[in-house]
Amino acid sequence: MPEGDTIAKLAGFLAEQTEGRRIRRLWVRPRDEPSAAGCDITSVSCKGKHLFIDLSNGATLRSHLGMYGTWHRYRPESDWRRPRRQASIIFDLEDWHYVCFNAKETEWLRVDGPRHLDRLQRLGPDLISSAIHPDEIRRRIRLLIDPSVLAVDLLLDQRIAAGIGNVYKSEVLFLEGIDPSRRVADLGEARLQTLYGRASELLRANLGGGRRTTRTKRDGRGRLWVYGRLDLPCLHCGEPIRREALGARPRSTYWCPRCQRG
Ligand SMILES: [Zn+2]
Repeated sequence: MPEGDTIAKLAGFLAEQTEGRRIRRLWVRPRDEPSAAGCDITSVSCKGKHLFIDLSNGATLRSHLGMYGTWHRYRPESDWRRPRRQASIIFDLEDWHYVCFNAKETEWLRVDGPRHLDRLQRLGPDLISSAIHPDEIRRRIRLLIDPSVLAVDLLLDQRIAAGIGNVYKSEVLFLEGIDPSRRVADLGEARLQTLYGRASELLRANLGGGRRTTRTKRDGRGRLWVYGRLDLPCLHCGEPIRREALGARPRSTYWCPRCQRG
């Protein structure tokens, strides 16, 4: 599932491969006509789970992969591993085609235009790109979150801080020993700060190659503490891991009932 770390790695790869390159043709669904031919890609960046591709004509293409989106790269003569109707974005750069399948959102923005700025302001500080901004996160929680909101919903709210997805949500709560049905009011400011600090640390630790992991121990017992481990013994205490769909928009949440009583 694409989370902040996936998008940061993707943005890094696309930046390295495509910045400064000329676009031969570009298709962005739902419009079916090729556009932006002859423009250059000037920069590729991300904030949280949003990818921004700036073009030399002053336009920015924003995309969000949601749960099912993915990017592929193909030689022009190669067959695609997915049907064309699933393509949301196709960059034809002559020698390579970069194709985004099943994006949840695609949108054209003007660089520094009001919608672009608004979009950026609606996202909280990026937990990956720089050191965490505790004051800004605290300010956003106070401003935007009702104290009765569940911790699981808070962590997924990209207006507070951008980058945490469903996997990191469960992992961070486990590592901090927090019961996922806790509400924001139950967690003090210091506790919230450590939660976000931990999330940022994990996201940044996963920017290298290899598969996503939240465990540093290489003991052959898996890469994650709780996510995807329903009924398996907790790697810390042996208690079976539980799973329930929690939150206002229920999403799978995994936790250890013994380690996460806090
Ligand atoms: Zn446990």
